[in-house]
Amino acid sequence: MVSLDLMKAYDTTWKLHILTSLSKVLSQNQMFNFIRIFLKTRTFQVIINQSLSKVFEQANGITQGSTISSLATVQCHLQKAINNLKNGPNLPSLDFNPKFKTLSILLQENNLAISNYLTIASSLAPHWSTKDTSSSIYKQEYFHLIQNLKCEKIYTDASKNQIWVGAAIIWNNMEYRYKLPTSCSVFTAESYYVIIKVLELITENHLQDTIIFTDSLSAINNIKNTHNPSDIAFYIQNKIYTLQKINNFKIKMFWIPGHSNIIENERADLADKTAISSSLSTSTNIISYRDIQARIANKCHLIMHQKWLSLFTKLNQIKHNKDNWTFLIETPRKFEVIITRLRIGHSQISHSFLMAKEEPPICASCGVQITIKHILTECRTYLNIQSSLNLPESLAEILQNHPKAIADIILFITTANLQSKI
Ligand SMILES: [Zn+2]
Repeated sequence: MVSLDLMKAYDTTWKLHILTSLSKVLSQNQMFNFIRIFLKTRTFQVIINQSLSKVFEQANGITQGSTISSLATVQCHLQKAINNLKNGPNLPSLDFNPKFKTLSILLQENNLAISNYLTIASSLAPHWSTKDTSSSIYKQEYFHLIQNLKCEKIYTDASKNQIWVGAAIIWNNMEYRYKLPTSCSVFTAESYYVIIKVLELITENHLQDTIIFTDSLSAINNIKNTHNPSDIAFYIQNKIYTLQKINNFKIKMFWIPGHSNIIENERADLADKTAISSSLSTSTNIISYRDIQARIANKCHLIMHQKWLSLFTKLNQIKHNKDNWTFLIETPRKFEVIITRLRIGHSQISHSFLMAKEEPPICASCGVQITIKHILTECRTYLNIQSSLNLPESLAEILQNHPKAIADIILFITTANLQSKI
């Protein structure tokens, strides 16, 4: 009999390990894909005095209270524990293989006399994706769909670069171009300015039946979101609702993937790019809440960054920006832990004396206190390894978030045999 007590199992279980472990049992079938997506899309929010925080992604661990989480955790930890036991002395061969009951067994066990049921078939249709679909397919579908349409067709587009934001509307032979404020995001340009201007056009010209063509799927999704709409979506939904109810206008939106070689769409694309230099463009300077929020956030980040650089701490010596520290290359979990410890400057070799209530450790070769900085940049013991790897002199460069730097630091730790000491 084997007893297991899993402390903090749900919070600490490593997602990748769960998937690797489950893939051996479930292979790459639908259940495996379901669990993979389930683990990938977990988010959480915190509520304090009826105020809800923004949404955070659950980077590690799994959701408590979910049946799938129990299966995933037990499979992951139990197999690991059994693997460890197998390496122990005098133990018979052990394996943990969860048995999945088939539907017929379940029906039999529950005395349900159902014999004719639809079995799940594999899809014969190819999976649709914007990346793999050629523009000729879009073009063909587009012409097929519009050939019998008698309604008005309005094409829109917007684009943004470092110095300008432009938007354009194409309706028959007419082109409308708009210069937008530089702080306006491309999303605001596509979902707010363009659509609002189209609705104005529809109202002024009494267009009874119109289709608005756009290459912005996010704009369409935003506008059709009635459960939790943004300020922009609310505004547009109200406008469309009023036009439909009071004026009995028919308005539809149609998504055309960008650069599908559809002439009208390409015209709109060209027009918004020339909007900034054209004397025919209309200037507008309204900014949405969303853009103001982004500007305030940018300003706050700038102030925080300046404050961060003015401090003199261990961490700001090695991290000069506010970017997240992530692992840009696939890094074994063990080295992720080691590199994170090196970055925060706390490791077993330099800080275990605190727990042991001893004096700080002194380097036998150099006669100075052992610190992460000393090991990586100064220590005579590791000088040859440092120069053979051509490691930079500053701690910030050694520990930077760059694939080569991460590969070098892993090589350094391995060559210096420091894995168990960090
Ligand atoms: Zn030393």
